[in-house]
Amino acid sequence: MSTAKKCCTDRVIGAILASWRYDISGISPEMRKDYEQHLAECPRCSARQKFHRSLDGALALLTSLAALFFLFALAVLQHIRPLEHVAFKVLGLDIYDMYHMLVSAGVAGLLFSLIALALVLTTTPAPSYLGGIAAERAKLIEERLPAAIKSLRPR
Ligand SMILES: [Zn+2]
Repeated sequence: MSTAKKCCTDRVIGAILASWRYDISGISPEMRKDYEQHLAECPRCSARQKFHRSLDGALALLTSLAALFFLFALAVLQHIRPLEHVAFKVLGLDIYDMYHMLVSAGVAGLLFSLIALALVLTTTPAPSYLGGIAAERAKLIEERLPAAIKSLRPR
C-alpha cells in the first residue's frame, strides 16, 4: 500500500471533512471549492467520502427494506385475520394472544423502521447521494436512447 493512501495531504482540511463525515453538500458553492479540490487531490479523503456515502446509502436501503418487511408481515397477518376467531374457539386463548402480539410487534417494527429511515434521510446526505446516482443513471439511459425517441421527448 502506498503512503499516499494512508496519509491525508492536508490535515487541517482533512480533520474538518472528517467531522462532517466528508459531506460538503451543505456548504455554499464558494466555500466548497477548497474542499472539493482537497477531495480531488487527497486519495485518503476521497476514499473515506465514498465509504461514508455508500454507508449512508446502505443504511437508507436497510431501513426501507425493514419497513417493507414489517408492512409485508402486517399484510400477511391481516390476511389470516378471518382465522382468528376460529383459532380462538378451537385452540383457546393462547393463539388469540399470539396473533395480537404478532400484530403489535409488526406495528412496532414498522414504526421503528420508519423512524430509523426518517433519521437516516434527515441526518445523512443519503437523499442527495441516492438522487445523484439516480440522475446519473437517467442521464446514461437518455444518452443511449435512439435519436428518434429523443426528438419525441419535450425539452
Ligand atoms: Zn485529505
